[in-house]
Amino acid sequence: MSSGKPDVVIIGIGGAGAVIAAKLAQAGASVVGLDAGPHWNSESDFASDELSMMDKLFWLENRISAGHDPIELGRANSGRGVGGGTVHFVGYALRFHEDDFRTKTVDGVGENWPINYNDLEPYYAEVEKFNQVSGPTFFPWGAYHGPYPKRSHYRACMHETFRRGCEALGIPSTVGPMFILSSATKDRPGCTYRGFCKFGCMPKSKSSTLVTYVPHALKYGAKIIPNAMVVRLNVGKDGTVRSVTYLSEGNEREQEGDTFIVSAYSIETPRLLLNSKSEQFPEGIANSSGMVGKNLMVHSADFVIGKYEEMIRQYRGPQGLALTQEWYTRKPGDGFVRGYTIETETLQPIEFSQALIKGKGVWGRQLIEDMRDYNHYVSFGIVGECLPSENSTVTLTVEALAARTADYIIDAKQRFEL
Ligand code: SF4
Repeated sequence: MSSGKPDVVIIGIGGAGAVIAAKLAQAGASVVGLDAGPHWNSESDFASDELSMMDKLFWLENRISAGHDPIELGRANSGRGVGGGTVHFVGYALRFHEDDFRTKTVDGVGENWPINYNDLEPYYAEVEKFNQVSGPTFFPWGAYHGPYPKRSHYRACMHETFRRGCEALGIPSTVGPMFILSSATKDRPGCTYRGFCKFGCMPKSKSSTLVTYVPHALKYGAKIIPNAMVVRLNVGKDGTVRSVTYLSEGNEREQEGDTFIVSAYSIETPRLLLNSKSEQFPEGIANSSGMVGKNLMVHSADFVIGKYEEMIRQYRGPQGLALTQEWYTRKPGDGFVRGYTIETETLQPIEFSQALIKGKGVWGRQLIEDMRDYNHYVSFGIVGECLPSENSTVTLTVEALAARTADYIIDAKQRFEL
């Protein structure tokens, strides 16, 4: 630490920021982490109540997307609070395939990455070990087939139904590698199979960074400041960032530092850089190329629900576990480019009722009748890739409206035609 300032200030202590904080703190750097949301205590703040937990954990701040065909962002695109989206992710621990880094070459779409799978491979292995990822004895797709640090989880009825369906269609399936403990470690218990993974995981069996890297960072002296929404990076005369301004309990505060790392998701990171315009940097910080905010990529996620004669009781077990990547890689004759994973992603009753309202348009008495059959339904998620496009851009709302570059703007609830 120099002159009382921390060596590093990290903005956003989520999936990436928490790992960086832990690694740098362990290496001896003085670290301050700022996060827009609270620092939850899993045991006292989380509950087996999906409705209250959705409001707590999802990023519900106003987030507007615009353009000619704007991306409709779901409420769960990122999380709010220390641990970020890892607090409400389902827990799949999938690696990218080698081809994911060469989409332009392989499929003629997107761009090739400047790094490849082998560059990341040691980091995948390190993260899997640190988090004691559970997984199958053989994972059929991609470059890595196992083993994983811990044995895989057992299938509940929902996951077994998925396996049987795939088998009937002649499609390979597996239980996935999961950021969920299949047996206890010295400081966390194994999974209790009650299915609230997306709602925080009270027992701490799911390896969100809130219960893994954040305690590690704190052990090595990092300081985490929650409820601190960073709104501006402040640049000194020498053109380097010297502090950030953040809002806390209605007050503006300042945090100085030697080095600043912005790791606040693909929307809030460019938003912060663009919102930090100055005479020296009229286009915002790190934006001499004009590319900040361009080519926004998120992942696509859709659901299919199906009804069985038999009882499935989808609430049992981890919300995610069984999957197939049969259509992950394009094969000759496929009428699409790039692929997707189909996976079990169980819906707890209130979530399920929301899916029925949105998907089937049912309401009132019909909704009550359908919900009586909740135990007979299965829910599968389809997770794909959102390709980079110049039309998918993060801009400051006020500028997008002034320039009238958009046909539509969308916030979490409504689509407005301009
Ligand atoms: S099913 Fe397992 S991972 Fe999911 S919330 Fe329960 S204990 Fe946590």
